[in-house]
Amino acid sequence: MESNQTNYFESYEDLEIHRLMLEDESRNKAYKDAIMNNKSYLKDKTVMDVGCGTGILSIFCAQAGAKKVYAVEASNLANLAKEIVKENNFENVIEVIHSKVEDVSLPNNIKVDVIVSEWMGFYLLHEGMLDSVLVARDKFLKDDGQMFPESATIYIAPCSVPTLYQKWDNLHGISMSLFAKHLRESRYNKPEIMHIQSKDLLASETALCWINLKEDTASDLDSYSIQHVAAISKNGSYQGLCVWFKCTFPNITNDGDASQVRLDTSPNSLPTHWKQAVIVLPQAQEVEEGEPIAFQLDMIRDQLDKRRYNLELTLLDPEVVEHPLPCTCHMTKCIL
Ligand code: SAH
Repeated sequence: MESNQTNYFESYEDLEIHRLMLEDESRNKAYKDAIMNNKSYLKDKTVMDVGCGTGILSIFCAQAGAKKVYAVEASNLANLAKEIVKENNFENVIEVIHSKVEDVSLPNNIKVDVIVSEWMGFYLLHEGMLDSVLVARDKFLKDDGQMFPESATIYIAPCSVPTLYQKWDNLHGISMSLFAKHLRESRYNKPEIMHIQSKDLLASETALCWINLKEDTASDLDSYSIQHVAAISKNGSYQGLCVWFKCTFPNITNDGDASQVRLDTSPNSLPTHWKQAVIVLPQAQEVEEGEPIAFQLDMIRDQLDKRRYNLELTLLDPEVVEHPLPCTCHMTKCIL
């Protein structure tokens, strides 16, 4: 476990990872808007940035008028963050602390008004960094403090996956469908990180879970399961389950013109570096508009590596699963 931890933080010393995040405009804009929309709240407040990386979020908070920002970073990137803070003339506001947040102690047991963090991984929970943010919340956040973001939801929807199906039907005039079949079988229940287009979604999404960052505990994050019946919205080939997430930020003083800021990684939103996660079915199923499809999804934290989750998709018979109401599928028992 300890060497996994070391590898985890070392992986964040690769500048390419930070480049990917810093070039993700949807991500940057969501945090910036959320912080700037709450400028009058943030004025003279004390903030902790959990996992500050290059320091971008700490600098947004300082620009918004925070009195003090504790920018905590476990990896050696902390050294670069210090320089970046200096270059932006915020060394009097932002204190970079080179440490795991779990090991930090603040002078006089100071509590902070705000915790900001960009902890989200693929399909939200991969990397398990939210655990550390919750430790920081319990240790450092005032009772009436705010979390940026304050909630997160994982969504799922059946979809087509052209890059693991149709694409292989004709490769330079050769059918590689059999290769694709073996490829899919070898990948079953290992989510593929890829962009899914909104036209490839075959039904409306449903929420797997809603996480309240102000209240949930690390053990709440251990397992999420759902049994669901989806009504197919158009004829197509059901080839996988698309998983994505949305985070929402507090709207305390509403200084901007926007309502609550959301960071949405849906196929219907602008692409982000998180893309979508897809659990690909080994075998496609042709489906028609109005047809019900049923499945169970279990997202369970790995026992040995707490930063990983196992995602298991089980196809079910729609007859035996309770349908959501009102249901738009064509099964007799739903219409009744
Ligand atoms: N806030 C930056 C970086 C986000 S990536 C940005 O928005 O661009 C997450 C960062 O958190 C990484 O740099 C990683 O090293 C750091 N991190 C993860 N867990 C941490 C922990 N427990 N304590 C301190 N830093 C942590």
